[in-house]
Amino acid sequence: MTEELELFDVTIVGGGPAGLYTAFYSGMRDLKTKIIEYGPELGGRMLIYPEKMIWDVGGVTPILCEQLIARLEEQARTFDPTIVLNQKVEGLEKLQDGTFMLTTATGEKHHTKTVILAIGYGVLTMQKLEIEGADRYEVTNLHYTVQELDVFRDKHVLISGGGNSAVDWANELEPIAASVTVVHRRNDFGGLEKNVIKMKESSVDVRTPYEVVQLHGNEDMIDHVTISHSETGEMERISVDAVIVNHGLKCDYGALTEWGLEMEDDVAVVNAKRETNIPGIYGAGDFIDHESKVRYIAGAFTDGVLALNSAKLHIDPDAPKAAYVSSHNIRFKERNKQLGLHDEDYREVKG
Ligand SMILES: Cc1cc2nc3c(=O)[nH]c(=O)nc-3n(C[C@H](O)[C@H](O)[C@H](O)COP(=O)(O)OP(=O)(O)OC[C@H]3O[C@@H](n4cnc5c(N)ncnc54)[C@H](O)[C@@H]3O)c2cc1C
Repeated sequence: MTEELELFDVTIVGGGPAGLYTAFYSGMRDLKTKIIEYGPELGGRMLIYPEKMIWDVGGVTPILCEQLIARLEEQARTFDPTIVLNQKVEGLEKLQDGTFMLTTATGEKHHTKTVILAIGYGVLTMQKLEIEGADRYEVTNLHYTVQELDVFRDKHVLISGGGNSAVDWANELEPIAASVTVVHRRNDFGGLEKNVIKMKESSVDVRTPYEVVQLHGNEDMIDHVTISHSETGEMERISVDAVIVNHGLKCDYGALTEWGLEMEDDVAVVNAKRETNIPGIYGAGDFIDHESKVRYIAGAFTDGVLALNSAKLHIDPDAPKAAYVSSHNIRFKERNKQLGLHDEDYREVKG
């Protein structure tokens, strides 16, 4: 079985920003690379906020998140890694020759010399609205994310939830929707204070402490929602064109927690080299913790570089500690020519 499978140098689990940048850097170090992503597309948690503007990635002036995902993916594909989508990594077996066999939830196997876990907080699923039959509206006007603001133009929108995203969506939709009602079961909101104030001072109809208890509609579409006061039980019926639910995310590491990784506060403990307690397994991005960890995109890139360099040295202890800089790196000679640059000052460096 093992002989039939292609052996990869590095298998990156997770196709978010950490995994994507790590895949690019892995190519710079001549490693045979695979990314395995649970979801149907790359981007990780960034897929939750595609229309948000990102300002805090070095060297990138304000950019829509969906555009940054596209650039990350393009960069990740530079050295043609193998990309596997729709597979959830679950099992890990260390083989006698020191390599690893990964198994996915659907039984596929992946053979690799090293593993980089870039799994964020695990497989993310939206907390669903706990109302019987609600799922039948998911194909029409019950939404768990806002992928495109324009879908809600001139609509009467009800948002259920009080977290960051609920408040953000209320503020973003307020100028374009016919009306926005926010229903939250507590009086306090989790969003940034200035955004909460903005929402409350706008035309958004804020109903607290209330919760959605019933959806009414015909077979396909919700047309009314019943909300109930959390303390008095008083009911009210609101006419709607669309309902957006933001009750948070459920994170699930699944069987990865059985690998024997040292975890603390639900994330993996790594050292400065992004090594976990299992030799050959490294971590990058939001999944890991160490004393200088920062949980944002730029931090994930640095983690990826450090994790990959550790993987490279695990495979070849004589390799240089890091890749040679891209400006003089021979791997980019042909690519630079294609971009119209004819510079002969390249270094032939090993890995
Ligand atoms: C609303 C919001 C706004 C944000 N805004 C910013 C911002 O402006 N700037 C900034 O720098 N950061 C921002 N962040 C944070 C940023 O998105 C995260 O820090 C970043 O996505 C972490 O990247 P990651 O690759 O470590 O993990 P993730 O992006 O979570 O990606 C992990 C991937 O691993 C996959 N995965 C998990 N388990 C498995 C498994 N067992 N098998 C296969 N695949 C698996 C998941 O499906 C997922 O695609 C924001 C986050 C949110 C939620």
